[in-house]
Formats: sequence, structure tokens, C-alpha cells
Amino acid sequence: MSSVTNGLVLKVSDIGESDKVITLLTAEMGVIRAFANRAKKMNSNIRAASQLLCYGEFTLYHGRDSYIIENAVAKEVFFGLRSDIKKLALAQYFCSLALEFVPEGEPAPDTLRLILNSLSYLQNGRRSPEFIKAVTELKLISLAGYAPDVSACGACGKSFSGEAVFNVRTGKCYCPECSENGMRISPGVITAMQYVIFNGIDRIYSFSLPAANEKLFGRAAEDFLLFRTGKTFKALEFYKSVST
Ligand SMILES: [Zn+2]
Repeated sequence: MSSVTNGLVLKVSDIGESDKVITLLTAEMGVIRAFANRAKKMNSNIRAASQLLCYGEFTLYHGRDSYIIENAVAKEVFFGLRSDIKKLALAQYFCSLALEFVPEGEPAPDTLRLILNSLSYLQNGRRSPEFIKAVTELKLISLAGYAPDVSACGACGKSFSGEAVFNVRTGKCYCPECSENGMRISPGVITAMQYVIFNGIDRIYSFSLPAANEKLFGRAAEDFLLFRTGKTFKALEFYKSVST
């Protein structure tokens, strides 16, 4: 049985001398692995579409316990990311996050759209990589069902009138009078977090923050994500090493 699915290549691994297995993020099946057999002999379409960060249409043969790529047509290859080491590192971090958050075999249309949008913004350069990173981290974790609660104080329930304290461990915000454990964030950062959490994927890139707030917003999103996953990401460390 063959089926056709659109997918983004998150990872490419060589097997032996001529075979490859690619990990795809798809809308219908979430993360799947598919074999591109005899890479040296396969047709140029499959070869072109089986590169890291390529979004394409894949015709997959479903074998007994694996997928085999029968044909592939590249739709978007994000060439603009390959020539910029910082953007490429960030794009690879987004791929690692998708691998972390999306279960194998379960539909993930929103996550696919989020990652594709983020790669487009990263490529076109209209927003800073730091901004795109924070928006992506926060939305991804929200889609996974772990959005921080930033709508009102986690202790007294009042809405915020000024600065707040964001605690990554509880995933809540507090008025400074209620709790001092965490990161001080300004009203602008609270609003930014609410905006990303509550708006649809196509709208979440359309706001801006003053530089100081953007930095804090970025720190809040990253700290929260790293705390929630309890992981370190090589691609993130690499991104940081080329960002300074
Ligand atoms: Zn309070």
C-alpha cells in the first residue's frame, strides 16, 4: 500500500554505504521514519527532497514495519537558511524540538504549521532569530498542552497591574507581593506571552517588543521550555555558541 503525505525532513541518517533513513514531520502521522533505499541510485527527485529542512510531498510505501520512499517532490527547501550558520543552527533546534514534542504516528498539523511558519520567518529575515525562537518555543509547549498560566496571579487570582514574577517550576505568574520566586517580567512580556499562547499560529509573529523586553521574553520562553522538558539540546547549545 502506498500513500502520499506532505512532510518536513527533521533528520537524515546514513545507514551503511548507500541507504538513508529520514525522519519526517507530517500533519497526518506526526513524526515518522522512512527509508530512502539505495541513495546513490535513487532518482534525483527523491534525492532533492530527502535533505534536512526540505518540505516535500512524499509517496510512501508502507512495508511491514517501516515506510519506504517511492517518490518525493520538494516543495520548499529553505535554501536561505543554509548560508547562515546562526539561522541554520536555530532551524536545527526547531527540528529537535519537534522530535521531542511530537509523538510518533499521532497527527500533528498545528506543530507542522508552526515549524514551517517559523522557518519561513527565519528565512525571510523580517523578524529577529531571537524573537522567532521565543515565539516558537512558547507556542510549541502550548500546543503540547503545557502552556504556562500567565492570565492572572497564581496565588491571589488578581490580574496584573504592573510587573509580575514568572516561576518556571510552577508554570505560573505571581504579583510581586504574593511571590518573589522567579523571574521579574514586565507588563509587556506578560502581554507577549498571553498573545502567543492564546492566538492562532498564523497570527503569533505579528507583534513586536522593545529590545529589553524581547530579551526577557526570550529568557522566559527558553527557561520554561528547558525546565519542562528537563533536557539539553545540542542544537541549542550550538546556536548559542554561534550567536555571541
Ligand atoms: Zn497575587
